[in-house]
Amino acid sequence: MNTKILKMDEENIDADAIREAGNILRNGGLVAFPTETVYGLGGDALNAESSGKIYAAKGRPSDNPLIVHIAGMEELSKIVRKIPEEAYLLAEHFWPGPLTMIFEKSDCVPLETTGGLETVAVRMPSNKIARALIHASGGYIAAPSANLSGRPSPTVAKYVIEDLDGRVDMIIDGGEVNIGLESTIIDLTGDKPMILRPGYITEEMLEETIGSVEIDQTIIEGNSKQAPKAPGMKYRHYAPKGNLTIIEGEADRVVDYINEQLRIYRKNGSKTGVIATDETATKYQADSVKSAGKRKDEDQIAHQLFRILREFDDESVEIIYAESFEGRGVGQAIMNRLLKAAGHQVIKL
Ligand code: AMP
Ligand code: MG
Repeated sequence: MNTKILKMDEENIDADAIREAGNILRNGGLVAFPTETVYGLGGDALNAESSGKIYAAKGRPSDNPLIVHIAGMEELSKIVRKIPEEAYLLAEHFWPGPLTMIFEKSDCVPLETTGGLETVAVRMPSNKIARALIHASGGYIAAPSANLSGRPSPTVAKYVIEDLDGRVDMIIDGGEVNIGLESTIIDLTGDKPMILRPGYITEEMLEETIGSVEIDQTIIEGNSKQAPKAPGMKYRHYAPKGNLTIIEGEADRVVDYINEQLRIYRKNGSKTGVIATDETATKYQADSVKSAGKRKDEDQIAHQLFRILREFDDESVEIIYAESFEGRGVGQAIMNRLLKAAGHQVIKL
């Protein structure tokens, strides 16, 4: 398949190009596009065949449901059975934005889109290219992250092209995304709202809006025997090609420990890398040291994490050590992604 690659500025949207992309989606094709969280790989959410193509293009297991992207509240009622009171409150506060809500699905949503589930995940993105494309496509775009299954989610079009060139009809390059981590997912179909995937919208922010929420424990414990409630969270994910280990402990000891390990690996001729912070980056003796930002600036760390993992791949780094981060606020999402990327290899000093 020949993939058309188009550059577009969010502040200066090319209406003709959006119409062309919308027509591809209406005709059952695939278009990768920017959102504020990460790049998405879009197909018509109400067309079973399109959803099938998304799984094939990504190499994604077919029991891993897709998130349906909409541009207005009017569209929501058609695809869900009922809209609970909390959903209106959450939408008022966080939509458009990086929050996905799970509802009972209505009959028009094919099971191919929901990975066989009777529930459907819905999000209203704020990125203007995404919104224009949703309108042009007829209102419902199923879009997982635009990477091959298992790889780090793309935050710039370069990595979408690397993974999906030749596998989709069009890629819209809208520059670097804002947030850099996928949406928070909250399930509204149980007795109590439950976070299934942490993200930029934190537990604290959700509780301020709708009162207490539960959190799927499997997503923080990791080595739990129970399967996570979001099917996608059980798969190894976000992984760089190199072997990644997280080192937890007091800052100076972490630096000393990582440097000791690096000496051994470098002597063996392995290419080494470290995910550091501004406070520590100059202290490491690795082939490639990347700071995720100031330790206190979680938004910045979230923004850089996936790009750093991809850059280590570009540089063929084989052994990677990462510092650990605070597991609260946005830090909860950062640690969730980092732990998955590391296949839960953590050394506690
Ligand atoms: P991605 O689009 O790559 O960010 O992945 C979407 C995530 O949403 C995966 O972890 C899915 O398991 C989760 N998800 C989508 N729909 C549902 C649903 N109906 N119930 C639970 N989790 C869902
Ligand atoms: Mg993904």
